[in-house]
Amino acid sequence: MKPFVYNSLPSRVIFGEGSIAQLPAEIDRLGAKKALVLSTPEQKESVRLISETLGARCAGLYDKAAMHVPFEVAEDARRVASELGADCCVTVGGGSTTGLGKAIALTSTLPILAVPTTYAGSEMTPIYGLTEGGMKKTGRDARVLPKTVIYDPMLTLTLPAALSAASGMNAIAHCVEALYAHDGNPIISLMAEEGIRALSASLPKIKTNMKDANARSDALYGAWLAGVALGAAGMALHHKLCHVLGGFGLPHAETHSIVLPHAMRYNRDAAPEAMRSIARALGAQDAPGAVWDMEKKLSLPMKLADIGLQESDLERAAKIATEAPYPNPRKVEYGPVFDLLRGAFEGRRPAA
Ligand code: NAD
Repeated sequence: MKPFVYNSLPSRVIFGEGSIAQLPAEIDRLGAKKALVLSTPEQKESVRLISETLGARCAGLYDKAAMHVPFEVAEDARRVASELGADCCVTVGGGSTTGLGKAIALTSTLPILAVPTTYAGSEMTPIYGLTEGGMKKTGRDARVLPKTVIYDPMLTLTLPAALSAASGMNAIAHCVEALYAHDGNPIISLMAEEGIRALSASLPKIKTNMKDANARSDALYGAWLAGVALGAAGMALHHKLCHVLGGFGLPHAETHSIVLPHAMRYNRDAAPEAMRSIARALGAQDAPGAVWDMEKKLSLPMKLADIGLQESDLERAAKIATEAPYPNPRKVEYGPVFDLLRGAFEGRRPAA
């Protein structure tokens, strides 16, 4: 056993079908009286139904959450929270909505109660992001970690099959990088391997039947484990690449999905123990190839070319990604990273 440091992050998790019914009691438990409920415009009708169950505990519904937390939206939401006298935020949605709650908490210290409806995992991390003038800045701050998280798989039944698959692969990516993180530890590795197992078993079932409540429950359980892994271990080359590609306007979950098998192939020989663990969770021999095959079966987009990257962007993306790399098992160098990105651009199966 190698020496390690393990920091557990303080959050209360309520998991299970129908657990959204516990939302009023959980607001009370936080000592809060008036919650500002956050959502995207797309989810506003379903979130309105949830906010109506809160009665006087609901200060209002703010439905302008958007991808990558635009600075102006965060400012506007903070103003609304203050005008309505909210003393907590309830976020109901994916990483974009949770991210807006975090942006409010960063300056107001309002506690967040998160109700995730995708597999992005932001609800379990102290990481926040804000986009201003086309630049996304991220940081870590304990104040933005949701105090309470309610995972109700029934709220994920409406997540479209394609987005479910991509979001699930986003979660698997957190697990993969936690397994070879420079600051990883055996507890997080257990959770990460179990997260990959739960997600890889459930995503194909969700593709066949997106209303499969058991599969939804397993996937959300996997997403929770993945979120813990993301919050506890430092991420490596894969997350750096996805962050850089996000700056080119590429969609978050699909970018993770496409890049993952290529980033794994890059690191494969430098992280043999992690690869064994991933292969075990997938019931396969070669972890990068098995992830690529699974994505193909899930009918996910396989090429960066298909989600908006231009061939002429490859050099610039490789340059930015290698200028200030995150710690990574294999040395991060321009040439091999460019080749990785070209493989992902063309959608080639990583070599065995
Ligand atoms: P998202 O939150 O942008 O959601 C995508 C779309 O799906 C939205 O229109 C949303 O309203 C809709 N949606 C969500 N759940 C639904 C459901 N159950 N039914 C129907 N529609 C639903 O996407 P995401 O992938 O969850 O989050 C991506 C964002 O989260 C990115 O900005 C990323 O950087 C951030 N993120 C942050 C962290 C962190 O730790 N800070 C972790 C992961 C992701």
